[in-house]
Amino acid sequence: MIPAAFEYLRAHTADEAFAFLQQHGAEARVLAGGQSLIPAMRFRLARPAVLVDINSLNDLSYIRVDAKSLAIGAIARDADVERAPWIADRRWSLIHDASRVVADPVVRQMGTVVGSLCHNDPAGDWTAVALAARAAVVVRGKSGNRQVGIDDFLVDSFTTATGEGEMALGVVFPMPDDRTAGSYQKMERKVGDFATAAAAVQVSMNDDGTIRSAGVALSAAGPCAVRVDAAERLLAGQKPGEELIRAASDAAWHRSAPQADLRGSVDYKKHLAGVLVARGLRQALARLGVQA
Ligand SMILES: Cc1cc2nc3c(=O)[nH]c(=O)nc-3n(C[C@H](O)[C@H](O)[C@H](O)COP(=O)(O)OP(=O)(O)OC[C@H]3O[C@@H](n4cnc5c(N)ncnc54)[C@H](O)[C@@H]3O)c2cc1C
Repeated sequence: MIPAAFEYLRAHTADEAFAFLQQHGAEARVLAGGQSLIPAMRFRLARPAVLVDINSLNDLSYIRVDAKSLAIGAIARDADVERAPWIADRRWSLIHDASRVVADPVVRQMGTVVGSLCHNDPAGDWTAVALAARAAVVVRGKSGNRQVGIDDFLVDSFTTATGEGEMALGVVFPMPDDRTAGSYQKMERKVGDFATAAAAVQVSMNDDGTIRSAGVALSAAGPCAVRVDAAERLLAGQKPGEELIRAASDAAWHRSAPQADLRGSVDYKKHLAGVLVARGLRQALARLGVQA
C-alpha cells in the first residue's frame, strides 16, 4: 500500500523543526530514520497529516562521551553507535551487545536510538537497554529543554512522555564506573526479527566483591519494556553466586507479562525472560572477571 496523503516539511535547524511541530500540533510527526514510521504509514496504521523531517539537523547527529555521560543525538544512527570507537570499552558492553542485534545491518544504517525510544515498541531493544542503564531523554518543549528519566519517558505501548508539539533531542546514558559491565541477551527467530524475549543487564561491583547496583530490564514482556525492580533490589549489596542469579531469574519470570503471538506462547516467553536474565548476569559478571 502507499501512505495516505501528507505534507512534507524538511527542517534545517532544531528551532525550525520545533516551530513546525508547534504549528501543526497533533497532526504532525517527526521523521527520523523512518524505519518504523514509514512502514506504519504504508500500512495506514499511522496517518500523520504532516511529516517533519529532522534528517538535515546535523547538530543532532552527535555521539559524545565525556567523564560523566554518553550523549546520543536524535539523528545518530544505530550503525554509528555500533561502530563508535569507545564501544569496545567494557563499561559500554550492554550498549555494544544491543547495537549488534537491533533489527539488521540495513535497518541500522538509518534507524536511530532516539527514534526507537520515541517509537516505544513493546519488543524494541533500545528501550530495555535504556532502562537497565538508567538513561534520560532530552525533550524540547515550550518552556525549554528538560531531561525525562527513562522510567517516566516510556508511558505505554507506542506512547511516551513527549507531548504534543514536542520533540526528543537526544538521550543521555550516565557514565558507568570501571567496575561496571553489562550484557544484552536477545532471543530472535532470525536475524532482523524483533525479540521473542530479551533481557538487558548492567552490574556495578564494589571493591569487596559485592554488587553495588544492578540494572535489569526486559523487552517483549509487557506493553513496553519493563524494569525488574525486584531483581535489582535483591542483587544490590550481595555477593554474586548461582543462588542469587536464580533468584533474579525468578523475579524476571514473575515480572514478565508478555502477549502470546506468532513468536511464542506466554509460558515460553516468561521462561525465556528468566533464562535470559540469568545468562545476562553471568556474562556481565564474567566480563568483570567475577566468578558467579
Ligand atoms: C525490518 C525491520 C526490522 C526491525 N527490527 C527491529 C528490532 O529487532 N528491534 C528494534 O528495536 N527495532 C526494530 N526495528 C525498528 C527500527 O529499529 C526503527 O529504526 C526504530 O524503531 C525507529 O527509529 P527511526 O529512527 O527509524 O524512527 P522513525 O521510524 O523515523 O520514527 C518512529 C517514531 O518515533 C517518532 N520519533 C522519531 N524521532 C523522534 C524525535 N526525535 N522526537 C519525537 N518523536 C520522534 C516518530 O514520529 C515516529 O512516531 C525494525 C525495523 C524494520 C524495518
